[in-house]
Amino acid sequence: MVVLTALLVAMPAEAQKRIALTFDDAPRARGPFLTPEERTARIIAGLRKAKVRQAAFFVVPGNLAAPDGAGGEQRIAAYVAAGHVIANHSFSHPALKSRTAQAYLADIDRAGDWLKGRRGLRPWYRFPFLDEGGTDKAKRDAVRTGLAARGLSNGYVTVDGSDWNIENLTAQARKAGKPVDMDALRDLYVETHVESAQFTDRLAKQALGRQPVQVMLLHETDLAAYWIADLVAALRAKGWTIVTADVAYRDPIAKLHPDTPSAQGNLLEAIAWEKGVPAPRWYERNTLSIADPLFRQRVLHEGK
Ligand SMILES: [Zn+2]
Repeated sequence: MVVLTALLVAMPAEAQKRIALTFDDAPRARGPFLTPEERTARIIAGLRKAKVRQAAFFVVPGNLAAPDGAGGEQRIAAYVAAGHVIANHSFSHPALKSRTAQAYLADIDRAGDWLKGRRGLRPWYRFPFLDEGGTDKAKRDAVRTGLAARGLSNGYVTVDGSDWNIENLTAQARKAGKPVDMDALRDLYVETHVESAQFTDRLAKQALGRQPVQVMLLHETDLAAYWIADLVAALRAKGWTIVTADVAYRDPIAKLHPDTPSAQGNLLEAIAWEKGVPAPRWYERNTLSIADPLFRQRVLHEGK
């Protein structure tokens, strides 16, 4: 019995590295390489190849009226048909700082009306720009109360690599006629997100003394369409187990509402702040003045 206990205590930390994948802004506008339809087909195929049973797609129904929005409803249905789930990411993707709490909640309701009754719907709300009210605590609390009244919980993130920025930089380079080193782009995309997960794993151990289930923020990008299976393989090589979003949002951290001077960003960053964990609490490549030169050097081979 003593031996068994010792074995349990000695269970390697690797065994507890669990993470769910989430994709924001669906149906997203066309990216640098693929049509939206091709992108959806490839993301579904990549997740299937990687044996990811369930990812979450945070939907912005207002995107359906955008120039690339046609077919968006079918694309969202295709994700659900493949076993994935959907949730609310607002109707028009406003920053909370730019709206009153009342107008902001009305925008959430408009998205809720579109989502209502659809298969695969989960009662989660993801804040656009991860803006939960910033320094305006009255607004923060009004929206927290409004979400609770609607039965919505925070679809928080704990791992972020600013994939949207890598995709934007790629689109800009393509537009400018610059050659894009695709192998280097894949490596940067994969490495950035694995490093971010590793960073948050260390931060969580410091802040909580345990390893909560992590939630990775991705977007519906061409980068995911090409390399989501490579990213999953690289995570597994570092000891991560991919779990469903349902499992992730049952972690006890889902119940935490950290009180920080500015309500925004990654949940574990906020928890770490509240617990007094010293900086850095923010994965460095989410700082664009660090990420952008790295992209230019590694993917465009500039400035060497
Ligand atoms: Zn978004």
